[in-house]
Amino acid sequence: MSEQQQGRLEGSVSLITGGANGIGRATAERFLEEGAVVVVGDIEEPDSYEEGEVDYVELDVSSQDDWEDAITHIDDEYGELDVLFNNAGIISYDSITEIDVETWERDVSVNQTGVMLGMKYSVPLMRESGGGSIINSSSIWGNVGAEGTAAYQATKGAVRNMSKNAAITYVDDDIRVNSLHPGPIDTPLMQAQDDAINEEVIEATPMGRMAEPREVANAVLFAASDESSFMTGSELVIDGGYLAQ
Ligand code: NAD
Repeated sequence: MSEQQQGRLEGSVSLITGGANGIGRATAERFLEEGAVVVVGDIEEPDSYEEGEVDYVELDVSSQDDWEDAITHIDDEYGELDVLFNNAGIISYDSITEIDVETWERDVSVNQTGVMLGMKYSVPLMRESGGGSIINSSSIWGNVGAEGTAAYQATKGAVRNMSKNAAITYVDDDIRVNSLHPGPIDTPLMQAQDDAINEEVIEATPMGRMAEPREVANAVLFAASDESSFMTGSELVIDGGYLAQ
């Protein structure tokens, strides 16, 4: 079955964090196909995109100053922000008894504080733009536990509930907020991971495979567009059946 391009984000301005690689990159391509102006905020400058040009801003999501600069840039350049995909994330592997506080705090500052800052700085401009859609990257491990990756799982659980909090708080501003819960997706993050971890999670996935980043990007597109107009405080689970067990 083929996907149809319908201009679903025509005339909208989207900011995607961590859009240089993996799920964020696939989403940037998908959004470009659907007519969006795409701003990519990343610590890494992206290679060129197949579907068009993005506006790259250097953004470390854990830095308040970087967020302030990025949103000021978007306001000056486009005067609006309609979609925020808080996608940037990192993973550490230690359990609670193994982890050092520095590693713990690094995961928290990027995965959790980064998502909070993204909303803190984007909501005022979105409000001025007449509303918008925010998608925050959680994980299947924001819903259930697994061995190890203690800090990662803690931050992804926080993102899940933070999204529900924001959904309720900003509902009168017509800002919808949903969290995204991918299972195993074939990205540089997964490719850098220990094979044993990947095999274990694939084996625990009823569909028995990793997904392509585009399979997640399609769900993000749905959440970003007006097609999901009655969906807020909810969870987009794209996991090949992992959480159904
Ligand atoms: P990836 O490592 O392939 O890409 C992450 C991108 O984020 C990179 O471009 C990187 O430069 C950028 N980044 C890292 N730290 C940053 C920072 N401080 N500020 C700005 N950008 C930063 O990762 P991915 O697999 O595409 O994952 C994207 C999101 O999806 C993450 O939040 C991840 O936790 C989540 N996720 C991924 C999977 C998976 O299987 N790949 C599963 C569940 C959830």
